[in-house]
Amino acid sequence: MCPRFRQTSDILRLMSRKEDIRNIGIIAHIDHGKTTMTDSLLAEAGLLSPKIAGEARALDYLEEEQKRGITIKTANISLLHEIENKPYLVNMIDTPGHVDFTGKVTRALRAIDGVIVVIDAVEEVMVQTETVTRQALTERVRPVLFINKVDRLIKELKLSPEEAQNKLLRIIRDFNNLIELYGEKELKDKWKVDPIQGTVAFGSALHKWGFTLEIAQKKGTKFGDVAEAYKKGREQELQKTIPLHNAMLDMVVKHLPNPIEAQKYRVLKIWKGEIESEIGKAMMNCEDDGPTVMCLTSAQLDPHAGLIATGRIFSGTVQEGDQIFLVGTKKDYRVQQVSMYMGAFREIVDKIAAGNIAALLGLDLARAGETLVDIAHKDVMVPFERIKYVSEPVITVALEPKHPKDLPKLIDVMHRLAVEDPNLAATINKDTGEYLLSGM
Ligand code: GDP
Repeated sequence: MCPRFRQTSDILRLMSRKEDIRNIGIIAHIDHGKTTMTDSLLAEAGLLSPKIAGEARALDYLEEEQKRGITIKTANISLLHEIENKPYLVNMIDTPGHVDFTGKVTRALRAIDGVIVVIDAVEEVMVQTETVTRQALTERVRPVLFINKVDRLIKELKLSPEEAQNKLLRIIRDFNNLIELYGEKELKDKWKVDPIQGTVAFGSALHKWGFTLEIAQKKGTKFGDVAEAYKKGREQELQKTIPLHNAMLDMVVKHLPNPIEAQKYRVLKIWKGEIESEIGKAMMNCEDDGPTVMCLTSAQLDPHAGLIATGRIFSGTVQEGDQIFLVGTKKDYRVQQVSMYMGAFREIVDKIAAGNIAALLGLDLARAGETLVDIAHKDVMVPFERIKYVSEPVITVALEPKHPKDLPKLIDVMHRLAVEDPNLAATINKDTGEYLLSGM
């Protein structure tokens, strides 16, 4: 039996238990280890075979792509984590790119309720740590902290346990200063991270180990033991005694909110409609049988499937055949297909309910940032707040194909770029006949 199908039904069951769902992302300064950590989580807790991590993953994707004739892009990875035999579903939304020139991180944040902020233990808090943390706080997305590359403190910097501890404490303090600076008054004290509370983990994404203080206590592991393991060249063992995915997912499940909790304060921030209205109440309570309301966070043009619109369902249930309305474009559509991302693959499903992430086909003018509502509520729906970007388009380039016969291809590509990046504009200068692309 193909494990994927078995697991899809598992996921669908989990998706109906909202208390057990976490929608999260990983954000970091460039090179601090976001990709390494994502790959490791996917390999160890992802709902596809462990083979797909690293190199093998790329191959699997290509094979699968050929088999199915669709282009596969990772928009969302679903991870499974058990605490005391109880399964939790962790949906990890891809937050691509560190320098957020295209605004992709900002858009992805709209779909999630919590983030793991990765900080390199050697480099400490950097400019983009500040930018992405600020963006998360602006969207009322709660952070937990992972201090990565602790192996380098031991192997390269050769710090004593005391020196290492001081450095780690400084990182935590600096990170909390960011929360103090950019967090909202009512939330920031609660959201500051603290190793004793379990909202900070330490480890090495490269060597796949990590711990929170709770885990370290339970396992009887001390910092000295980790240093000792490196000295003896036995760091491989740490992967087994204190596996990274366990620390990360424990922290996520225990300290980041489920969609029901999160929507109660996030909706107030990202939607300015009447909270006491039918739609307002349904979103605040993350109701499956309320009006369908979705905030689209990504639009991708697939050569076979057409436009794939992905977003977070804040209320109601989306089903194939539903008549929906896009508030920004003012167009109604029939949903042609509902799917969810599992690993990097899109799985077609019957329906997806509030608090989850869904990918929809058939909405050709849908763009990231759009508000989707069921047709019955089209006249009363107030759109979501505009997603705030850190920068505005600043450059314009004129493009021309090397060979004039390739002009249609150029136009096609420019169109696709503009669909996927709402901050990009493709225009034609009628006077000069130039093809212009403006963006960040
Ligand atoms: P990203 O830019 O945040 O996605 O960072 P990457 O995951 O691509 O990592 C950047 C570099 O740091 C790569 O060369 C990784 O192998 C390395 N790296 C990531 N995690 C660790 C770690 O825990 N320890 C060490 N020593 N290197 C790491």
